[in-house]
Amino acid sequence: PPAVSERPTRITVHLDHLAFNLRSIRAHVGVPVMAIVKANAYGHGLVPVALHLQAQGIEQLGVAFVEEGVALRQAGVTVPVLVLGGIFGRQVAQFIAHDLEITVSSLDKLRQVEAAAQALGRKAVIHLKIDTGMERVGVHSYSARAFIEAAVASRWCVLKGIYSHLACADDPDSPMTMQQLERFLGACAHIERLGAPMPLRHLANSGGVLHFPDTWLDMVRPGILMYGVLPDAASRRTVDVRPAMSLGSQVVYFKVVKAGNPVSYGATWAPERDTRVVTVPIGYGDGYPRALSSRGDVLIRGNRYPIVGRVCMDQFMVDIGQDSVWNEDEVVLIGAQGDHAITAEQLAQLAGMIPYEILVGLNDRIPREYR
Ligand code: PLP
Repeated sequence: PPAVSERPTRITVHLDHLAFNLRSIRAHVGVPVMAIVKANAYGHGLVPVALHLQAQGIEQLGVAFVEEGVALRQAGVTVPVLVLGGIFGRQVAQFIAHDLEITVSSLDKLRQVEAAAQALGRKAVIHLKIDTGMERVGVHSYSARAFIEAAVASRWCVLKGIYSHLACADDPDSPMTMQQLERFLGACAHIERLGAPMPLRHLANSGGVLHFPDTWLDMVRPGILMYGVLPDAASRRTVDVRPAMSLGSQVVYFKVVKAGNPVSYGATWAPERDTRVVTVPIGYGDGYPRALSSRGDVLIRGNRYPIVGRVCMDQFMVDIGQDSVWNEDEVVLIGAQGDHAITAEQLAQLAGMIPYEILVGLNDRIPREYR
């Protein structure tokens, strides 16, 4: 028989919400969308998410590493895919063989790409990366002229795009974003001066999509917002999106813990009076943050209950007081039950993390189902 996971702990990816979010973002910005699906589509599953977005008519996908791009191609994804990360010369042939678009972030890298493309006799499709304030990869906007001129003149590179990345767009009040936009447009103006056709200009991540219409330009690059999650507690919900992920499990054990008897590693928590404690089979070995020890909560039978004591590698305990909960009852860790909901944003805040870490951290030990 096929190996079907009987694990009660599972991620449900709501494909209808993903499609809803894409429609919402599209209606909001009115320009094409490059959905960012790096890091296993922010924990939602690289290939199923990419195939679904492709079926929804997504214009472009973005990944971090060439290996992620190759995985998409091998799974039958045919839409344009840009690899956002910095590259090494030895990888260029792989990009070209799989029809993956290359981020070129220096004159040196441009020369490497050209040499590899010429050797293969196939042009490389490139996007220039301009650094406007992130100080990560990319040529500084104030010294990008020679870089841009070389790219425009290149015989072996097709200049499809030019882009930069916003450092503070999740904060609607940060002045940094408009500064970055200005620097970026300054670099783009040099292409215009050269009389060359303007490539696709893209700048806006989720924060840009939410807060800064001027950054939308020719295409937007939302990641976390595609999945229905806001980038930061300071972000404004200017686009209607729905969480694409829920995370659930089932009660695997029930016991009564006597007053004063500590629960879990380090004996950090003990009940003041006799209480009922249930065990949930998920832990930091799955990417459920240990920082939620005695801080997070879960939903069972429509009620909210606190995690007590330390989160272990494969399980944690929940105090249900004097309530009745049974083995195999559904446990919601992210999602809605009855009148309550738990979001990735809330968990991040409780854990002192960002929502990105919550989503991306949930690893392949947890089976994913798609609805
Ligand atoms: N564009 C680039 C270059 C990125 O590195 C990322 C992710 O970090 C994104 C877009 C998407 O960011 P977000 O998830 O904040 O929308």
